[in-house]
Amino acid sequence: MRRISLVVPVYNEQESVELFYRTAARLLEAEPYEAEFLFVDDGSSDATMDILRRLHESDPRVRAVSLSRNFGKEYALTAGLRYASGDAVIPMDADLQDPPELLAVFLRHWERGADMVVGVRENRDADGRVKRWCAALFYKLFRRMTHNMVEDNAGDFRLMSRRVVDELLRLPESVRFNKGLYGWVGFPRVVVPYTRPERAAGRSKWPGWKLWNFAIDGITSFSTLPLRLWSYLGGLIALAGFAYAVLIFVRTFIYGVDVPGYASLMVVVLTLGGLILLSLGIIGEYLGRVFEEVKKRPLFIVRETVGLDGAGSRRAGEGNGERPGREGDFPRDAA
Ligand code: UDP
Ligand code: MG
Repeated sequence: MRRISLVVPVYNEQESVELFYRTAARLLEAEPYEAEFLFVDDGSSDATMDILRRLHESDPRVRAVSLSRNFGKEYALTAGLRYASGDAVIPMDADLQDPPELLAVFLRHWERGADMVVGVRENRDADGRVKRWCAALFYKLFRRMTHNMVEDNAGDFRLMSRRVVDELLRLPESVRFNKGLYGWVGFPRVVVPYTRPERAAGRSKWPGWKLWNFAIDGITSFSTLPLRLWSYLGGLIALAGFAYAVLIFVRTFIYGVDVPGYASLMVVVLTLGGLILLSLGIIGEYLGRVFEEVKKRPLFIVRETVGLDGAGSRRAGEGNGERPGREGDFPRDAA
């Protein structure tokens, strides 16, 4: 029997995990697949892990990987992809904002041979106006910069076949921006629109500032356009400066020297100074990424696993997020 893995990153989700599990388990009852509910605890400080342990006692299909601290959703998800053993893997949020009712639709597309089925949020009324507007702007920019590699308004909620997951796991970068990576690995995709409901319980873990940084990570890991922009701007300013120099030269030649010019000098100095600082900042942004990559740290560290040392899961001791790619293919489970 083929296996499907639901990969659910959870960070302080004591109000939602059980509800999520019950809803998803009920919906998967009718499906002819062996299901795996793989939760990745992203360093929660509440009762999330206790609930997961209890759920595992009553249903061994519930498994959990607990990270040593809060690594962030992208890393929790990467850990989940690494531990998932399914022939199809579906990342989902624990708060039921990725409606489990769509699982059946995803699976039907998968049966027809789709390697990637993407849930696209058609309606984001559940998000505030500012968040919606920023998201729209981000997707527009990001799509343009990456030549339409990603879908508009698609999150992590999607179905990926085993070969897509294996390709994703081979990507060696340390700064993970999964949305972009999904696009980068390619494969034809089927799009399933849905309406994003409100959070079922608990609070969102993504304040505005975190989202802003997330957007910068996304753009700088997939495009060097911001760097190139500065060459053009620098060229333009140099040209303008040259033209101005010629003008001054001619004017001095004809009218002689005059002292006033403090205002225009200040304007030029300040604008140029500002532009130089800004461009240095952007170069720093990329340099910082190079720094992150050369450190070659593991992507995450596992504190404990629940229900993952038996058959069908990865061997114990292979847990930590050591970066694949260099030594060849990532060793998949021995099952
Ligand atoms: N999450 C996580 N680590 C974090 C933040 C969030 O694993 O540092 C999980 C969270 O538990 C949830 C999912 O990522 O299952 C989506 O988070 P949330 O619902 O807070 O984001 P939003 O839907 O508001 O964008
Ligand atoms: Mg949510």
